[in-house]
Amino acid sequence: MTNATQPTPGDWSDLRARIAGWARELGFGGFGVTDVDLSAIEPRLRAWLEEGRHGAMDWMERHGTKRTRPAELVPGTIRVLSVSMDYWPPDSESAKGTLKDPDKAYISRYALGRDYHKLMRNRLQKLARRIEDEVGPFGYRAFVDSAPVMEKPLAQKAGLATQGKHTCAIDPERGSYFFLGELYTDLPLPVDEPAREDVCGGCRACINACPTGAITAPYQLDARLCISYQTIENPGSIPESLRPLMGNRVYGCDDCQLVCPWNRYATDAAEQDFRARNGLDSPDPVWLFSWSEEEFLRRFEGSPVRRLGHALWLRNVAVALGNAPTSERIVDALRTRQDHPDPIVREHVEWALRRHHAA
Ligand code: SF4
Repeated sequence: MTNATQPTPGDWSDLRARIAGWARELGFGGFGVTDVDLSAIEPRLRAWLEEGRHGAMDWMERHGTKRTRPAELVPGTIRVLSVSMDYWPPDSESAKGTLKDPDKAYISRYALGRDYHKLMRNRLQKLARRIEDEVGPFGYRAFVDSAPVMEKPLAQKAGLATQGKHTCAIDPERGSYFFLGELYTDLPLPVDEPAREDVCGGCRACINACPTGAITAPYQLDARLCISYQTIENPGSIPESLRPLMGNRVYGCDDCQLVCPWNRYATDAAEQDFRARNGLDSPDPVWLFSWSEEEFLRRFEGSPVRRLGHALWLRNVAVALGNAPTSERIVDALRTRQDHPDPIVREHVEWALRRHHAA
């Protein structure tokens, strides 16, 4: 490809195969190539936004059609390389066991280790540089949750994964515990066959398992009801009707994925960085609630949880403490934050104390 002759279709297909190999070497478990035609998705996204199901995630409304038209986001883009990386942390405490234990707090398994954004973006940059060594300068941009990118539909078109009824991406060979990333490019690589449209059949396990009924119908997620949204994206007060349903979940929620039969095939993360740190796979909520802001920032250095900020962290943990069995220890812990300067924290603490008849 570096010689002066015009590349043939065979050259591009050979390059695609080699790029797939480099992607594997860089730790990407899944790899596929797609074109940029997302016209079938546009009306569905518009309807979802018009119904307000994105909650306070205003950023989803911005950028107009850039989200569904990759070449408007990065001019010249004609292909998207879609990649996935497994994150299930090996050697961590049982997720289901922790969820059932009211004296423990639950943090989504994807957030137990180091933040994936930077790690995956660096790997995608390495992949691009490796391609550059082969073909010379070319147009590209790497994305990991960092721009208006329709990552799941692109992954489906690239043959990598299909959206399940819970709306997460499922790869029948590796379950759903993986992150997605994209390399937008102007290279005319051959595209892959799309992944199959339906991997769920008659199963409804995730719909039945969702603690708040956020999967309102197959493939329909109401973010406003989703515990992941409430604990991670909502910057304000968590609706009181949802709080008792949150149980001990303090950051994210994996319930719909934990019951999914495809996760029998899930593989542990190969990345050391995704291993659970600081005993966060099954922590004591009173301990989490006792952290000062400095301790919160230190313990979550390099973690996706850090972006939540200390006050919203306390808000979430207060809800978990409100749902825990009443004990002097828990009531005492809650009282230490009754005068917290942030009204959101105070309001959730009062709610939790009322649950223990101790307000
Ligand atoms: S739990 Fe069942 S319905 Fe839900 S995503 Fe998995 S296979 Fe599909």
